[in-house]
Amino acid sequence: MEEVVFVSTRHNLLEKVYQTNDLTKEEITYLLENITHADREILYRYALKTKQAYYGDKVYLRGLIEFSNICRQDCRYCGIRASNAKVERYRLTPEEILTCCAQGYKLGYRTFVLQSGEDLWYTEEIFIDLIRAIRKSYPEVAITLSIGERRPETYQRLFAAGADRFLMRHETASQELYEKLHPTMLFDDRRACLSALKDLGYQVGAGFMVGLPGQTPADLADDLRYLKEFHPDMIGIGPFIPHSETPLGAEKGGTLKDTLVMVALARLLIPDSLIPATTALGTLDPQGRELALKAGANVVMPIITPTSVRKQYELYENKICGDDHPEDCRYCIERRIQAAGFDVDLGRGDSRQFISR
Ligand code: SAH
Repeated sequence: MEEVVFVSTRHNLLEKVYQTNDLTKEEITYLLENITHADREILYRYALKTKQAYYGDKVYLRGLIEFSNICRQDCRYCGIRASNAKVERYRLTPEEILTCCAQGYKLGYRTFVLQSGEDLWYTEEIFIDLIRAIRKSYPEVAITLSIGERRPETYQRLFAAGADRFLMRHETASQELYEKLHPTMLFDDRRACLSALKDLGYQVGAGFMVGLPGQTPADLADDLRYLKEFHPDMIGIGPFIPHSETPLGAEKGGTLKDTLVMVALARLLIPDSLIPATTALGTLDPQGRELALKAGANVVMPIITPTSVRKQYELYENKICGDDHPEDCRYCIERRIQAAGFDVDLGRGDSRQFISR
């Protein structure tokens, strides 16, 4: 009898999230604690249908330029944290970044994502000149920044210079866990940055890691509820993958299944968002990104960082594509997307929310 009740409760929750795009924290927690293999299959199917209703079968590509692995922060999970003395540091010059953009543009990319550690050599002035130069050469591209925490005035000036989008994961919605993992950062600062970016008019990407040490189903439910309320344009979700040169090197990482469930729930709860099939998922499993595309993701961010420095941008170990060249990644990804049954879209790929704003 009891088992019948549980089955019908889970079934009702899956129907509810599919029909209404909403679940309470308690409902999400219950689902995560009791989910079965069969439930997951239903969830992935509903997430796929929801993605198709909002975005069709298109998968948007972004060229990712990892331009510096120098970082002033000391996040306990991250391979390029300030206290990792073993990582060989690099910083691309603005000219080198422009060369990456030229190469990326030739390969067809119309979004450039500039990501780095928190490297203060890159001052506001340097960023402004760089963004203006990219904007001048490629008026139609989307310029996405993922450079960590700066002052709201700086975000404002970078936006005015021509940046369109900003990726900043909230990392975890548990304040306690956030502060344990980020000895040099504050939970409230991160949230304030995200709100400021949104208010300034950026298309904003938030997101979190799955399988962090000590993270509970209730914490993950909070991550999804935060995203539902904040309503970002983009949502990055990846498994935590331990890096041996960090304090969390001996911990267990996040799993493929748990991450896919969170991707699917994010699609169902925030149906108009853009959700990347992350490189971390592709690292965990050779089919990880394809499975994410089948569970609601609709963006892939192939790396266009020069091959000479790629391996040094090692946030976690065994990161894929370390020896590849930008053109390898471009066509490898296209083949994978097509083999998974989807269509590559090389346009800017703005979010539905942004288009209707
Ligand atoms: N400095 C920028 C970019 C961070 S790197 C910023 O603060 O936003 C991009 C993302 O990689 C991070 O937000 C984090 O979620 C993820 N990441 C870092 N270390 C990781 C690890 N060991 N496993 C999985 N993801 C990791």
